[in-house]
Amino acid sequence: MAYLQLQGLEKFFGEHRAIKGIDLDIQQGEFVVFVGPSGCGKSTLLRLIAGLEHIDGGSLTLEDRDITHLPSSKRDLAMVFQSYALYPHMSVAENMSFALKLANVPKSEIDAKVKKAAEILDLTAYLKRTPKELSGGQRQRVAIGRAIVRAPKVFLFDEPLSNLDAALRGQTRVEIAKLHRDLGATTIYVTHDQVEAMTLADRVVVLRDGLIEQVGTPLDLYDNPANQFVAQFIGTPQMNILNHAQWPTAIAAMAPAGAKGGSIGLRPESLLVCTDGSGNSQGKVELIEALGAETLVHVTTLEGAHLVARQSERTSLRTGDAVSISMALNKAHWFDSKGRVVKA
Ligand code: ATP
Repeated sequence: MAYLQLQGLEKFFGEHRAIKGIDLDIQQGEFVVFVGPSGCGKSTLLRLIAGLEHIDGGSLTLEDRDITHLPSSKRDLAMVFQSYALYPHMSVAENMSFALKLANVPKSEIDAKVKKAAEILDLTAYLKRTPKELSGGQRQRVAIGRAIVRAPKVFLFDEPLSNLDAALRGQTRVEIAKLHRDLGATTIYVTHDQVEAMTLADRVVVLRDGLIEQVGTPLDLYDNPANQFVAQFIGTPQMNILNHAQWPTAIAAMAPAGAKGGSIGLRPESLLVCTDGSGNSQGKVELIEALGAETLVHVTTLEGAHLVARQSERTSLRTGDAVSISMALNKAHWFDSKGRVVKA
């Protein structure tokens, strides 16, 4: 049986059914990431698990124990918030030890746990400071430390890095990955950030409008999306989608029967921009994004599709150049008119 089991979980806000019956099994030690567009219910689902919102339907089981209606403090879970939620007047050490003090853990044990967490998180030099004397990244590490000292059964993270600048976000992401590798704690993590989802997750759960669209390993979702929604949600830049009206003849000739009237999806790396006219589709360069290690070339085709091609080489192309696009159609994803995957 799963370590943490969600069965038919539901949440209403007034008449609005925000979570519409979610089933999910999470194994011990697993790192599960919830992603999905704004308003799909990621945070609400996490808050239902944390016990911060009342569960209106279904059940939640942790290690064979029904915790559906248990108060948050009795669930043995620890949540790390985007806003850190530190006590401003307490020192780092006091913030980290607060929950243990409340639980009447002996002082010597608290001190040992705080010391160890501070070492893991590189906070030893800051234990006497208050949160306002710390950088955003250090504050977030204190918030993580506060969760670690409690040794909870499950760590819950609600967009923990979104208040940090890009460089610090990258660093802290790596720290969280290492932490998970070292502690092996069961973790559920909500994010908007594709890179966080792809790099941290053992499994990614893609949510849409209160329901699960697909669950899988990051690369499984990338390579085998179950539908057009997941295909376009996972991956940056997004998968290129050409509806049937935008197909050049090469695509129309290859389309499986079920995709007629539907669309084709091609990842940016499945497109090659050619200047010798040898591609499947003619077009014009609209924009070039030179990112250093890679170049994104935006092309509008004669059929009216806007495509983004990713190439690892630098380019001498310029905006307005006439080009053709060579498409790796063996890597195509086909969808029917309802956006469901059609096997080639
Ligand atoms: P975001 O990525 O923007 O944070 P999310 O996927 O985390 O979004 P939720 O915050 O879980 O989405 O919200 C899910 C739905 O429930 C939304 O339609 C939201 O408006 C609604 N909702 C969330 N909290 C409440 C609340 N306290 N009262 C009423 N409606 C709410």
